[in-house]
Amino acid sequence: MKRSTTASAAAVRESVAKRGFSLADFANLISPMAGEQLELLANRSRAMTLQRFGKVVRLFAPLYLSNECINNCSYCGFSRDNPILRVTLSLDEVKREAAALYEQGFRNLLLVAGEHPKFVSNGYMRDCIAMLHEEWPSISLEVGPMEVEEYKPLVAAGADGLVVYQETYDRAVYAQMHTAGPKRNFDWRLETPERAYAAGFRRLGISALYGLADWRYEALSVAAHADYLLRNCWKAQLTISTVRLRPCAGEFEPLTHITDRELAQLVCAYRIMFPDVGIVLSTREPAKLRDGLIPLGVTLISAGSHTEPGGYTGAGKEKIHHTERGRIVELASGASEWAAMENKATNATGQFNIADERSPQEVAELIRRLGYEPVWKDWDAALTV
Ligand code: SF4
Repeated sequence: MKRSTTASAAAVRESVAKRGFSLADFANLISPMAGEQLELLANRSRAMTLQRFGKVVRLFAPLYLSNECINNCSYCGFSRDNPILRVTLSLDEVKREAAALYEQGFRNLLLVAGEHPKFVSNGYMRDCIAMLHEEWPSISLEVGPMEVEEYKPLVAAGADGLVVYQETYDRAVYAQMHTAGPKRNFDWRLETPERAYAAGFRRLGISALYGLADWRYEALSVAAHADYLLRNCWKAQLTISTVRLRPCAGEFEPLTHITDRELAQLVCAYRIMFPDVGIVLSTREPAKLRDGLIPLGVTLISAGSHTEPGGYTGAGKEKIHHTERGRIVELASGASEWAAMENKATNATGQFNIADERSPQEVAELIRRLGYEPVWKDWDAALTV
């Protein structure tokens, strides 16, 4: 950790020029001194990305199935104690949402849900995946962590990727942020990618949520975690996201800050340290910053995202409700009308506000203008048989 704040200019230059990298090099790359030599890092990062990934940027879309949750995470709009409007989409509604994304060109889907075993049961997840797998070559999940045996039917139904953010790798901050629900268990969450791998998932995604603990501490922890997974889950394709906190219901203020320039430095450091790892950028970041980060090393981005269930088609409007401690309570009269005014596309509340509101087609066009090819699927399932 000390190296990440005190590295010298010479140590930074030496680390950037290396062929094989250690965590000590990564610490040099995220240091303030490396920040002063960002162009040096960017040149190496750009070259490595072109060499390993070519001029290709892959697109994916999150599809929110449910915003029910039994956890309280201080930074998340879906926290069980937030008085938001909630819904879990039926299979038919999920089908409509997916069809709208398919129509836009997406073939790589991330199914997202809060953690609520009653509304988002294993059987429900399996049915959603089995239904979608007929058309979608790539399906990843970002849902409450499960046991290996619970994951296996989801893999068998057609899911191939699992995303789980540790949120913060600082145990004290983690305890402070997660005040109720099973997510309080730090180690259970940390070991999730390994359980997913054991169950057969072949794409694993990890990240910290920047804005909770010191960003250099988080970045070093993510790098150590990635390094461990690359050695122990070596058949899997690993992705690292670069997610910063966004405004959400509950109005949580970030505890720490990472600047745009530091975020660019972090993208370069991840690329230089892990040449073959996918780097993911979401619509949490504003358009101009995303445009600048793409050539530096980003390989996978979302576009046109909605973070509320039913956001793409308005599905689920009729059955929104409030919950108290995870149980449904009746809406006060007039709430639906209020919700319709507050949420243009749906009545349910989103997880957070997105910053890049461009359509998928506009983002694809921008990728082309940057000289890259937008690719709408992660890989061709036929190639993996
Ligand atoms: S971060 Fe996930 S587990 Fe926590 S409240 Fe939000 S949806 Fe629930």
